Amino acid sequence: MKGLVKSNAPSRKMDRFLRGLAMLSGLAIAVSAYVDWRTFRIETLKADQTRRILATTERVLGALKDAETGQRGFLLTGDSRYLEPYNSAQEALPHLLETLSSAAAVKPMQAARVAQVRALIIQKRAEMAQTLNVRRDEGERAALAIVKTNRGQELMDKVRSLCREITENEYADLSEHSRQAQRHADQSRAVTILGSLILFALLVSEKAASRLIKRQDELLQELDESRQRFQMTLVGIGDAVIATDSRGIINFTNPVAQALTGWDQDEAVAKPLDDVFRVVNEITRTPIESPVTKVLRDGAVTSLADHIVLLTKSGNEIPIEDSGAPIRDRAGRTIGVVLVFRNITDRRRAAQDITQWKQIFDNAGFGMAVLNANGERLAAINAAFAAMHGFAVDELVGRPLADLAAPEWRDELLAAMHVRDSDSVHRMFEGTHVRKDGTKFACLIDMTIFLDAEGAELYRAAYFSDISERKKIEEATRESEERFRTLATALPELIWSSMADGTIEYVNPLWREYAGWPADQGAPSDPWANLLHPDEREQYLGKWSSSLNTGDLFEMQCRLRRASDRNYRWFLCRAVPMRDPSGRIVRWLGGCTDIHHQIESADQLKRTNEALRRSNADLEQFAYAASHDLQEPLRMVAIYTQLLKEEYAAKLDLQANSYIDLAVTGARRVETLLKDLLLYSRVSGAQTDDDELVDANDALKKALLNLEVSISENTAKMTSGVLPKVRIPEPHLIQLFQNLISNALKYRRPEPPTINISAERQGERWQFAVADNGIGIEAQYLTHIFGVFKRLHGHSYEGTGIGLAICQKIVDRNGGRIWVQSEPGKGSIFFFTLRAA
Ligand code: ADP
Repeated sequence: MKGLVKSNAPSRKMDRFLRGLAMLSGLAIAVSAYVDWRTFRIETLKADQTRRILATTERVLGALKDAETGQRGFLLTGDSRYLEPYNSAQEALPHLLETLSSAAAVKPMQAARVAQVRALIIQKRAEMAQTLNVRRDEGERAALAIVKTNRGQELMDKVRSLCREITENEYADLSEHSRQAQRHADQSRAVTILGSLILFALLVSEKAASRLIKRQDELLQELDESRQRFQMTLVGIGDAVIATDSRGIINFTNPVAQALTGWDQDEAVAKPLDDVFRVVNEITRTPIESPVTKVLRDGAVTSLADHIVLLTKSGNEIPIEDSGAPIRDRAGRTIGVVLVFRNITDRRRAAQDITQWKQIFDNAGFGMAVLNANGERLAAINAAFAAMHGFAVDELVGRPLADLAAPEWRDELLAAMHVRDSDSVHRMFEGTHVRKDGTKFACLIDMTIFLDAEGAELYRAAYFSDISERKKIEEATRESEERFRTLATALPELIWSSMADGTIEYVNPLWREYAGWPADQGAPSDPWANLLHPDEREQYLGKWSSSLNTGDLFEMQCRLRRASDRNYRWFLCRAVPMRDPSGRIVRWLGGCTDIHHQIESADQLKRTNEALRRSNADLEQFAYAASHDLQEPLRMVAIYTQLLKEEYAAKLDLQANSYIDLAVTGARRVETLLKDLLLYSRVSGAQTDDDELVDANDALKKALLNLEVSISENTAKMTSGVLPKVRIPEPHLIQLFQNLISNALKYRRPEPPTINISAERQGERWQFAVADNGIGIEAQYLTHIFGVFKRLHGHSYEGTGIGLAICQKIVDRNGGRIWVQSEPGKGSIFFFTLRAA
């Protein structure tokens, strides 16, 4: 702006000179014309005056002559008609003299002459009036006597002489005025000619001058535009601007300043700056020195200290940043101060944001890096990124990212980095990174490219994560998935999986084949509808829906239709929920096992069992009835045979007695057999009561009491440990102990039998052991001996072969097991298990 003004200065001077010259010329012509006009006007007035004086003088003389003529006529004739001109003149004269006096008033000499004329005329009139009065009163002679004195003539002559002088003087004035006018006319002409010449010269140079003026106008316009631009800039600028004069009085505020301070332009202008721009230290609350004072004192651009808040008109506080600069005139004098300030609330917030983001960046638990444009070098990295690669942060900043890529992946990484995909500023790739110690890890890079407004790349920011674990899990999952599919394909089961809501997502090939679903198509939307047998469909879908809601295991036997022959087959369908670590069900895994054969076999078995049970019951009934009903006649046989022997022994020979003995022995054996059979058939009665508890110590005591005689006869040594409580009816346990101990006493060796009864806990059961030092059992008979009527030593030892069968039955019935370990010649240990209390 300063330059513009400077470059315009010579033309402005020139223009000013020409304008001055033109004005001067015009002025000279105008002045000359005015002077001419004035002169002309004065001369005209003077000429008028002269003419009036000349004319009035003439009329005065004329009137005086008329009066003298009338006087003489009356004097001579006495006829009053001659007085007419006299009277008219007498009447006119005073007025004419008055006019002459006023016309000559400006000319002292002439005025003096007029005054003399007036005085003479007064005397003349008096002389004429006297003669007339004398004529009237005294007659002609007396009157002519006065006339003959010549006094009237003298007066008249003097008047004429004076009038001549007046007239001559006036003519002399007239010629003088005429000369003066001529001179002025000459001067005026000269001035006019000169002025015209100058104007002509200016006219000739008008083109140059107008060019100059046009240029000047342009420059002025530019200056104006520049000023306007400046003004607009100040108005439109994002910063607040306040300008003051050298005393600190505001003369301008822009809209931003008005908005920030709350003071309108009209309110602020002409106020001291300190009234409008009130600033205090944000922390100490002390007022800040007026920037105007500071600028005026230092004479230089100055800025306020930090932490400044502006107190607005409404009392709000706005943190600001400001600077002040002196406004100087051309001479360098400070004529004001311009104050520029801005609201830094947003900037502060931005700075806080940056700090916050920097902290987040630095302390993020995952690796982050900022790369320079093209993504070649690491401009900034966080601690997690460095740690991930086994480096310190300082060791990596500035290094190429490719240094951290495993050699086999480096080229791929660089290629991926260099792809400039116009519409993608985000890319993600997986690769292999290498740590400082040379170990490698799978790394996921999630990179965003930041562009400027023109689309040029500024920098890149990337998120790096060590996905080795994830990869392992993915691999394991893939393998597991593969295993599952292989298994699902290999198993002779219909296998499927569904989403958490039950939507089928996978079925194995066997399922497809069974249901008749094409391999290249997904599962139908309602996969069960056509598969389930109508009888079970509703129940099945209800149960399945309930499992989906509750997450409970699903299990149901149902019939599914085979597509190939449209026959229904029985399946056991089961589905288990798969849960994520939080326990949420993510899918269901199901399998349907073809149990058609089992169901049919079970039905068959059930039928067979039923038949068996019935036949068994019949048999038991028969055995019971037989053993019970046979006992009575047998007892009769035994009693009467016994009586026969007792009463007829002496009368019969030896042979008959031996027959009777055999009959008695046989009867007793049959009796024992029937007793045992009865016992056996009774054991297979109703199921035991689960809650029936018995103390094995008590049961053993009772068994030993029953065997008391036999024990003492055999001089057997009985030992036992502390026995537990078990779930079994007491008579059964007594029977068990009794049968096993009696066998141990029976199948003894010559030395006295030692028998030990013990029990040890095995999970939910107690395992009892009855050990003897008897004859033992050959290994091949260890299971055989538990059958009915199975005996190994039939001839040497008494017995029915039912004892161990009864034991077997008792143990079976009470949910246990019985077996024997033995060494022939050394002894046997009979074991049996019973449910613990
Ligand atoms: P029995 O009435 O013959 O004793 P059991 O059913 O009680 O019938 O026994 C079947 C067979 O098992 C016996 O005949 C015997 O040969 C054999 N036996 C049973 N207990 C013992 C034992 N403690 N020692 C040796 N053998 C035994």
